[in-house]
Formats: sequence, structure tokens, C-alpha cells
Amino acid sequence: MEGRRSLKRPACLLLCVLFLFCLSACGADPSPRTASVWAFDTLCSATVYGGPDSVQSPLEASLREGEGLLRAGTDGRRFAEADGQLLEFLSSEEAELIQTAWQISDWSDGAFDLTVAPLSALWDVSRATRPPAEEDIARALALVGYRTAECTAEGVCFSKAGQGLDLGAVAKGSAGDRAAERLQALGCTGGVLDLGGNIKLFGAKPDGSLFRVGIRDPRGDSALGILTLTDTSVITSGSYERYFEYEGVRYHHILDPRTGRPAESGLLSVTVVCKDGALADMLSTACFVLGAERGTALLDTVNASGRWPAAEGIFVLEDGGVVVTAGLEDAFSLTSKDYFRKEADP
Ligand code: AMP
Ligand code: MG
Repeated sequence: MEGRRSLKRPACLLLCVLFLFCLSACGADPSPRTASVWAFDTLCSATVYGGPDSVQSPLEASLREGEGLLRAGTDGRRFAEADGQLLEFLSSEEAELIQTAWQISDWSDGAFDLTVAPLSALWDVSRATRPPAEEDIARALALVGYRTAECTAEGVCFSKAGQGLDLGAVAKGSAGDRAAERLQALGCTGGVLDLGGNIKLFGAKPDGSLFRVGIRDPRGDSALGILTLTDTSVITSGSYERYFEYEGVRYHHILDPRTGRPAESGLLSVTVVCKDGALADMLSTACFVLGAERGTALLDTVNASGRWPAAEGIFVLEDGGVVVTAGLEDAFSLTSKDYFRKEADP
């Protein structure tokens, strides 16, 4: 008995040493590194495996770069100061992003529209305490409409002074893509980036398992379901994210360019899953304005074009129904009893 035990110990030790050697040889340190940065007017954090001892400065550098490539104003908006002014693209990344946005505006019949800037500046949902006057909404609305501006190879040419671009619906998705690329180039083997609830996933955990991402219950603080996946972006637009209340009514930040008011499409939130984070960000905003039925149709149109990686969605309806597109059937599980699975209305 005694003899057997003394034989086992060195064998155990050897296994431990081998295990540690394997981990360091593979660069797969099992403990994650974390970092957080205030960027894009929100808290952005990273939890990554492998790579450098600290990811604070690469995360910060890539997010600042992302802000610089896309933003002119402090709030992501840029305005034309004269009739016929061309707002030049600040970078090739911005050009690609805005040209894609114009396509999504077309396919969403204007529900998604970067020229919403005069309207979003008027509502200023993060600071406002009451809705704007009707005549001010009408005045701002007269300046909104991607069809009244021309998206060229050099920039966006506006017909009227006061028109402008609002990149609030696209900036974080594209920044997540950029940050993940940078961290992977530094040797990180897996990670989760959280840019104010916009999630970017890459690689795997050291044990090879995928990441589990909670889909927030829009009416509470917990998750209503879980997605298990990796190498993609999980981007949510929801009326709970930014809003104010006035006389018992909630006014949120996703505006319907047809009415000039916060969108009312029967949804509490939409999550779009796509490898292209910038596209996922645009689509989540567009789908929120469109609602479940027209939103799923938009995802079908985007996927049928074959121009981007597949985009899938989870639509959370005001009645508690949850519509999940076919491509997420295996990855998504509904965990809250307050919600139920539903088919998109025909
Ligand atoms: P997100 O949280 O990604 O859905 O983006 C919402 C932000 O996009 C808002 O805070 C506005 O800055 C901007 N926005 C609001 N409504 C629209 C819209 N219909 N199309 C494009 N951008 C919008
Ligand atoms: Mg968005």
C-alpha cells in the first residue's frame, strides 16, 4: 500500500509538470487578462486568453484609433455648414462603412438612415428630460433623408446646410472588429470584447470551449437566453439602453426617420449575430425600427446578396415572444420563463 502511494506521487508530479509545460508551450495560459477603457461614450472591456501580460494599452490604442477614424464631433455627429457641402470621408474604413450604410438604408426603405443626425441631436436622449416640440421635430425631419444626400467615392454631399451624419449606430460594431484583430495579431488565442453591450468574440477558451453570451432581458437585469458561439459579433439594439421618461412615457434613442420619434415597432430589443460587427451594428438598429417581420426580411435580403457573412437575429417582442432566425437555432437557448419562442408573423 505504502509502496504504491510513493510510486504514484512522482507520476502525478510528472503529469503536472508535463501539463504546465504543454500550456506554456502552446501559449495557453488558462487565466484571462482583463482591461477596460472608456470609449465611444461607454465602458468597453476585454477578457482575453493568451497574448501579452497586459492588454490594457492595445485595447485602448485600438479603440482610440477607431474613434479617430470615424468621428469628427464629440458625439459621433457631423453636419454640413452650407448647401451642397461635401463631407469628406475621414478614412477608407469610414468610406466603406458609410457606403454599406447607404445600401442598408435602401434595403430597409429608409428605416436605417445615418442622416438622422439633426433629429438625434434634437432629441438628445442621453441628456433630455422632455420630448422636443412638434414644430422642432418637423423642422429637423425636413433635413433627414439619405435620398436627399449623395454618397460618392469621396464623401457624402448634402443638399442643405444643417443636414448631417450620425455614426452612433455603427461605430462600436466596427471598433470591436478592429480591436479583436489587434489582440489576435498580438497572440491572444481567445477573447470577449464588450463595447457597451456590443459583444465581439474570437477564438476559444484554453479548454477549447466556446463562449456563452447572455441576451439581456430588456425588462430586467438578468439574461433571457444564452448564445454559445465564437468568432462573431453579437450586437443588440434595445429601447432599454438609453432613454428618458416624461409623464409616464419612455422615450428611447432609436428614432424612426419616417415619424421623427422613437421607433415603435413592437420590439423591446433585437440582437444581430454576424462575423462583420459593423454590419451587425447597422442591422440591429435597422431591425429595431422595422420590427420582427420586416426585420427578418431585411436579414434575408442581406444574406441573399452574398456580399457579407451571414447575419442572424433574435427579436424580443413586447408581448414576451422571442423570434429566432434559423441560423441561430443550435446556438441559442431561451432560459427565462417570462418569455416564449415565437415564429415571425407571416
Ligand atoms: P444602436 O444603439 O446601435 O441601435 O444605435 C442607436 C444610435 O444610432 C442612436 O443613439 C443614434 O445616434 C443613431 N440612430 C438613431 N436612430 C437611427 C436610425 N433610424 N438610423 C440610423 N441611426 C440611428
Ligand atoms: Mg447599431
